[in-house]
Amino acid sequence: MNKLLKKLNGNIRSLPYIGKKTSERLIFALLETENKKLKEIAEILEQLSQAKTVCSNCGVKSLSSPCEICNNAERDNILCIVENSKELYKMELAGIYNGKYHVLDGVISPFKSKNFDELNIQNLIKRIENEHIKEIIIALSPLPEGEITIRYLIKYLSGIDIKITKMAVGIPIGQFLENADEITLKSALSGRINAKD
Ligand SMILES: [Zn+2]
Repeated sequence: MNKLLKKLNGNIRSLPYIGKKTSERLIFALLETENKKLKEIAEILEQLSQAKTVCSNCGVKSLSSPCEICNNAERDNILCIVENSKELYKMELAGIYNGKYHVLDGVISPFKSKNFDELNIQNLIKRIENEHIKEIIIALSPLPEGEITIRYLIKYLSGIDIKITKMAVGIPIGQFLENADEITLKSALSGRINAKD
C-alpha cells in the first residue's frame, strides 16, 4: 500500500468505533471523491478541530460550552446519566427524551483502572441543586461495570433527597439505542425502575 494511504488508514483506524472494514470503505470513498469535495471536507475538519470542546456543565463533547442542551431553558428538570457522548447523541436522535444529561466519561473499570472519582461527577450534586433537578435517570449498560457504577452513584447521591431510576433494558445501552424502535425506546423510558431498590 502507498505510504500516504497507509498513514491515512492508520489514522482512521485509530478513531473510536472504526474497524478495518469501515476504514477501507472510507479510504475507497475518499479516493473516488473529486478534489474540490476533499478540500471542503478538510476545511470542515479544520473548523471542527478549532470549535470542538467539552461542555463544562454536563461533560458532552460539543461545539460550545455550555452546550446547546444545557443552555436550553425548555428542557425538563430531569437528569439522564450516560456513559459517553455517543450515547447522549443517540438518545437525542431517538427523540424520546426532553430532559438534560450528565456524561460520566466512562464507568468504573478494574481493567482500565478507572475509579469512581475519575468519572465526571465533580459538579453533579451542585447541578442537581442549581438546576432544580427532580429525578435522575441512570442509563448505564446492565453489565458488571455499569452495575458497580450505579451502586457507587446511588451511594454518592445518598445525602440528597432525589428520585433515582434506571432504564429498563437488558442489553448494553449503546446497542439498545441503536437497534430499538421508537415504541421499545419509549417503553424502556416510561417503564424505568427505582434504582435504589
Ligand atoms: Zn452541556
